[in-house]
Amino acid sequence: MQPFPCRHAIPYPTMAATRRRDLLCLATMELRLFDIADIPVRVSLWYGLLLLYWFQGNGGDARGTLLWVIIVTLSILVHELGHALVARYYGLRPSILLHGLGGLCNHDRAKRDRDDVFIIAAGPGAGLLLGLVTWVVSLKAPLTWMLNPWFGPVVSMSLYVNIGWSVVNLLPIWPLDGGQLYRLLMLRLVKPARAEKVTHYTALVLLALALVFGGVRGTSLLLMLVLWTAWSNVTALRGNGSSGPIRSVNKGAKQLLLEAQRAYAEQDFKEAARLGQLLRRESNVSDSVAREGLLVLGLSSARIGDHEEALRYLRAQPETPDVVEALIECFHVLGRDSELNQMLGTESFHKLPPERQKEILDIVRPDPSPR
Ligand SMILES: [Zn+2]
Repeated sequence: MQPFPCRHAIPYPTMAATRRRDLLCLATMELRLFDIADIPVRVSLWYGLLLLYWFQGNGGDARGTLLWVIIVTLSILVHELGHALVARYYGLRPSILLHGLGGLCNHDRAKRDRDDVFIIAAGPGAGLLLGLVTWVVSLKAPLTWMLNPWFGPVVSMSLYVNIGWSVVNLLPIWPLDGGQLYRLLMLRLVKPARAEKVTHYTALVLLALALVFGGVRGTSLLLMLVLWTAWSNVTALRGNGSSGPIRSVNKGAKQLLLEAQRAYAEQDFKEAARLGQLLRRESNVSDSVAREGLLVLGLSSARIGDHEEALRYLRAQPETPDVVEALIECFHVLGRDSELNQMLGTESFHKLPPERQKEILDIVRPDPSPR
């Protein structure tokens, strides 16, 4: 059992203003410790109690306990930072909380399942990476280091926490990270109501197995964690709500893209641009549809003379012949000479047929200026 049930995929209200958030922190006995890369890190009173539990339960080995607490805290922070940095990449305002059962990364709700998958996987991913680094360091370290009373234990604790806990965290036991990934997978395979049931029953079966084959021999904290996780699943099964956002795949977007591409092929650029704008406002669109939509929007915007708009969408596109020509047209019309010259020097431009290159050069450089 592992003490990092990260519930980032569970819906919670968008965070209020910082001031209100800090007041709330006082009420929930949380203390803002510091920020890492502008991500606030808080600790709850319950984390303090967890540390006390370790200190009193470790029979006077103060050094061992201190090392354990430091390694566990750093490992939790690395794990949660994995979630938080990817959440921030998607613009979802993350924050980290150290609480009585480990760590938690809160963030705004992601737009797509795919974003959630990356955010969830980044936690155990970061832990495994730290474990791998520890392992490589231990392989390279001289024997005298390994015999050092601090270095040896640090290595073994870091391997245990970062490899061991990360692997357990990836088991399909909701609300562990693996359980949340498993739920998203089930939502793809079966209808939402069934997916929720399968998620929680799978967790309960695995927890029962853990109790039968190991939990009884474990510590009381471990037993408590197993029971708490089981209870969370039972409550989720008894409630009518879902255990996270359910998003349907946007099938209308693909249709819009096809219509926009057809309009572009029929040289109805105004209609293609209009459909492209409509597609841009759709949510839960697959990456490929979104990218191709922006391509049609960029190309058709250039054709109807909306060059500023066209540049916004075309810059991020792969430099296909169509895109290269449209970019050159935009830079030329907008008088962006340095970018135009840069474009004319690229390999993508020189890949155009030689006669087309000459035609373009005749338009954008009517004077026989030096090339
Ligand atoms: Zn996590």
